[in-house]
Amino acid sequence: MKNCVLDGISPFPQKVWLSSPTMHGDEQKWVDEAIRTNWVSTVGANLNEVERLCAEKIGRRYAVALSAGTAALHLAVKLAAERLYGQPKVGHGALEGKKVFCSDMTFDATVNPVAYEGGEAVFIDTEYDTWNMDPAALEKAFELYPDVKLVVVAHLYGTPGKADELRAVCDRHGALIVEDAAESFGAAYKGVQTGMFGDVSVISFNGNKIITGSSGGMLLTDCEADANRARKWSTQSRENAAWYQHEELGYNYRMSNIIGGVVRGQLPYLDAHIAQKKAIYERYKKGFEGLPVTMNPYDEANSEPNFWLSCLLIGPEAMAPQERGEKTALYVSEPGKSSPTEILEAIAAINAEGRPIWKPMHMQPIYRMHGFVTKNGSGRANSNAYIAGGDTGDVGADIFARGLCLPSDNKMTPEQQDLIIEVIRRCFR
Ligand SMILES: *Cc1c(COP(=O)(O)O)cnc(C)c1O
Repeated sequence: MKNCVLDGISPFPQKVWLSSPTMHGDEQKWVDEAIRTNWVSTVGANLNEVERLCAEKIGRRYAVALSAGTAALHLAVKLAAERLYGQPKVGHGALEGKKVFCSDMTFDATVNPVAYEGGEAVFIDTEYDTWNMDPAALEKAFELYPDVKLVVVAHLYGTPGKADELRAVCDRHGALIVEDAAESFGAAYKGVQTGMFGDVSVISFNGNKIITGSSGGMLLTDCEADANRARKWSTQSRENAAWYQHEELGYNYRMSNIIGGVVRGQLPYLDAHIAQKKAIYERYKKGFEGLPVTMNPYDEANSEPNFWLSCLLIGPEAMAPQERGEKTALYVSEPGKSSPTEILEAIAAINAEGRPIWKPMHMQPIYRMHGFVTKNGSGRANSNAYIAGGDTGDVGADIFARGLCLPSDNKMTPEQQDLIIEVIRRCFR
């Protein structure tokens, strides 16, 4: 880190988080009511109400409240897989022997459910415009793997992907979409809420998301039969009989009415949180004027992100050397340049939490043997290498190398944010 970075700046007494829960008080009321009325299990007024409110907000016919976004993704993938390939024998996955196209630059919970069902994820590269799945790379993937019928798409950091283009490619190839809107609840693309684009879609109420239930997730669909199956699977697939009767595999994935109370208390604050996050994004953008960096981009004409996380991308010409191994990173400090590793170290030194860009799935040890398709076709460029000014053909690896997530907590004060901006500015001295 450069000597000047911390001159005269002292660390925040309390950590400024990347994104932490923000309670308002109403949560307590609904949790208390669940306890007072003894509806503390997986049935109750809070669940009914959060399902109704989420379906209404997004515009979906049905919402099923589940224990986590990951659980919702698992059931969403299972619903889509069974619609495509039929119900598997007990002990077998619904995707055995099948390949599934998946977003590459995302959190691994997006893609793990494919493996839970025995399928093989093939990763589709990212585009620079929105940092989401590249429709051109998806088209290429269907040329290379014409049998694929399922695509799992995420909207990263609350920025909608090019949903209509991705949908058009999938329709041309007769493929279904599972939409991971875990990070993008409240974001819209061409006036349509994310959560509307998938055949089955998912949002999350994890503690770090735009609103939270402390945990929890929601499966969204317009198909009544799918909603009913997901609800039944989530409560151990009990048949309608006096005794425990089971015809298919079950899961314990239902949201509890207590968690439902937290979500119910948070829902009225979704728009307020989005406004706060947007102000944070705009303040960073203005604060970085004149630096060789850009913010995580979005389609300003067509999309309204929820601005869950603010990120920055260092221009190729301003990248100082940085090498990442599997678990550690090294960098060289150079005048006029910086690197994500240097910036993250600098903001950590003032007690603020940033994070590298979500490391692309095709670079992860668990998935790096899997297929990976860029807009130029199949292939894996050297994923750790950053080639100055050059197009490696691997957009995800490039954004991972040059980008980082900034402290984006909605409780961060403008003064704290200004100090973070100042520290980052000094990294480029
Ligand atoms: C958080 C997240 C999930 C998982 O949601 P949980 O509620 O934590 O299980 C899935 N996908 C993405 C993109 C996420 O950010």
